Amino acid sequence: MPLSAVASAREILTRLHDVMASRSAAQAKLNSVVGIIGEALDSEVCSIYLLREGVLELFATRGLAQEAVHVTKLALGEGLVGSIARNVETLNLDEAAIHPDFAYRPETGEEKFHSFAGVPIIRRERAVGVLAVQHVESRRYDDVEIEALQTVGMVLSELIANAGLIDNASSDTSRPQSTAVDRVPGFKLVEGMAAGVAVFHQPRIVIEHTVAEDTEAERHRVYAAFDKMREQIDRMASQAEFGVDGEHQEVLETYKMFAYDEGWSRRINEAIESGLTAEAAIERVQQRTRQRMRQIDDPLLRDRMHDLEDLSNRLIRIVSGQLGTAAQLGLRHDSILIARNLGPAELLEYDRRRLKGVILEEGSLTAHVTIVARAMGVPMLGRVRDVRRLIAEGDRLLLDTATEQVIIRPSAAMDEAFDTRLAQTQQRRAVFAALRHVEPVTRCGTRIHVNINAGLRDDIAALDLTGADGIGLFRTEFQFLVSATLPQRERQQRLYRDVLDAAGDRPVVFRTVDIGGDKALPYLNHDEEGDEENPAMGWRALRLALEREGLMKAQARALLEAAAGRQLNVMFPMVSEPWEFEEARTLFEAQREWLAARGKKLPVDIRYGAMLEVPALADVLDMLMPRLDFLSIGTNDLTQFLFAADRAHPKLAVRYDWMSPAIARFLRRVQRTLHGTGKPLAVCGEMGGRTLEAMMLIGLGIDRLSITPAAVGPIKAMVRSLDRTALAAHLETLLVNPPRSLREPLLDWARENGVELA
Ligand code: PEP
Ligand code: MG
Repeated sequence: MPLSAVASAREILTRLHDVMASRSAAQAKLNSVVGIIGEALDSEVCSIYLLREGVLELFATRGLAQEAVHVTKLALGEGLVGSIARNVETLNLDEAAIHPDFAYRPETGEEKFHSFAGVPIIRRERAVGVLAVQHVESRRYDDVEIEALQTVGMVLSELIANAGLIDNASSDTSRPQSTAVDRVPGFKLVEGMAAGVAVFHQPRIVIEHTVAEDTEAERHRVYAAFDKMREQIDRMASQAEFGVDGEHQEVLETYKMFAYDEGWSRRINEAIESGLTAEAAIERVQQRTRQRMRQIDDPLLRDRMHDLEDLSNRLIRIVSGQLGTAAQLGLRHDSILIARNLGPAELLEYDRRRLKGVILEEGSLTAHVTIVARAMGVPMLGRVRDVRRLIAEGDRLLLDTATEQVIIRPSAAMDEAFDTRLAQTQQRRAVFAALRHVEPVTRCGTRIHVNINAGLRDDIAALDLTGADGIGLFRTEFQFLVSATLPQRERQQRLYRDVLDAAGDRPVVFRTVDIGGDKALPYLNHDEEGDEENPAMGWRALRLALEREGLMKAQARALLEAAAGRQLNVMFPMVSEPWEFEEARTLFEAQREWLAARGKKLPVDIRYGAMLEVPALADVLDMLMPRLDFLSIGTNDLTQFLFAADRAHPKLAVRYDWMSPAIARFLRRVQRTLHGTGKPLAVCGEMGGRTLEAMMLIGLGIDRLSITPAAVGPIKAMVRSLDRTALAAHLETLLVNPPRSLREPLLDWARENGVELA
């Protein structure tokens, strides 16, 4: 802001301060405000319109006919005032009457005024009114004047909110977009339907005080907040390889750039100079940037705009001392969580009973946050563009992953249609639940083993609820993720024992910790690996565990003791070469001997398995075979490595198909290597929980699946309707000269052969 603008705004704010502090009634205050602004800008007319019940009403004026006050009303989008409010946009015109939106109102007597400038009065990013000035003389207002008007607009928003002159219902009718947004498309990450109230993971702060008492103090507050924010960003960037905050590396780079941008801090300082509080100054600068950006139609810039919004909100939260996430503040209603992205640990902090759904701007199918949401049974829609701009905190939402959209502030008819669909889904669920005691045997007589993936104590109940054969993947790192400190051996042991107790005769496969990648442990000192550019391919899972021997030993002991007198199935993640498996197995065996030497009761049998997630292992499976008891393919990681496509990257979320010939042929090769060896082969990645994908896996000869509990019913139904022998023959033919994806041909085949696909 140029100095003269600062001075001009400051002069007005100083005078407004007295008006705001006075004990007079709201109407009298507004009358004074139009007087002050009109005088300061030397303008013949100054008027304030406020949005009441969806209509903009002239509330105060200097210069227009007083009889028009509370009489002149404009709909949103009607006339210049209506268009400013609808578009949340400033207008600066030297000849108002020739603007296409101009609507003449005779009762105001405005025909003699040529020039017009109006700014929206914004609250929670929506226009709740308009402040306008007019001159007889035909002239454009200079930037200084417009700046001053916009700053005053902020203060007015505080005044009218405090005076209760606008109600929530009316502020809700003005969207930041030109039309009310009803439906926003997204991408299904976790299936389900949810109705609830929008809650931002990082809540928006509503600014209560806009005019500063002590400019110097405000400046110090903002300095301190900048320091703290930069510290936070630096820390996040240094931990980014573990995705602590669910932030993407690229985003953090941009955050960093903005956080250290001198121009940004200077503009905030200037806004403070003009008389605003620190919070109001940050918001004021943000409003200006938003307005400027709205005129530029560049998707890249728009993304950067989001980053700046994030940072600006963070700065306001720091300055106002309101730092908690919605999880820390506690959910109060049935909530649908809105975030750009989340880390798995962040999601786990939420109360499952109140968290009905999640909407992300980013997100991908196999990111761990998605897996956690699936495990929590929370529907999730990802890649919903602009969601944080289109949805306001407290909006009622309907989330439906079947239609892959979110409905914002639904009408009664939409609610009704949603309820009907929900009832149908529940009926379908009931049909699947009835399959609980039915064995998944194909029409040609092959018994398919349908296990579930688990990781949280609450997941254990899913075994009985679904009638699954066992737990094919217990992700032990989830206990580590939900703990504030490293879980001690006794705590680990207790969990494992409870899981085994609940499973009874049903097998449980415990996977040793898969930490690193997007599963960070804030309490674990990760310093020694330095900065990782590709954390998914970095120091994680077995690589980390073998070097953190203490961690692995404690886990081995916990597992061995928990399984005393029973069978223990252990599986190692991310095995890349046989020696890694060998070392891990040796470590477990050493612990077993240690316990035996002390006369402790041991498992009756220990079976060691490896996860095939790194493609290289496929070529040395023969070397591993003699020492291996079973193999489980982790298709989430495997596909990211086969395609060199980050599984958490939102832009790659739908680029590569699980039903590509490359994956099918790769899996067929692994299946052939194990065939006849007597070593069980399973798939425990997310693809096994989708009916068409699972059908393909079974067709390739894989007869063990470990899947998300919600998928057990649909998968059983699919299995029971499938003739595997016929499918296997069809697949063989298809794979000779395959199309780009096997999805369409297999979908056709399933239809023709009466396979039940969900
Ligand atoms: C996988 O990679 O497929 C897998 C099952 O493990 P996670 O998703 O936990 O990495
Ligand atoms: Mg994996």
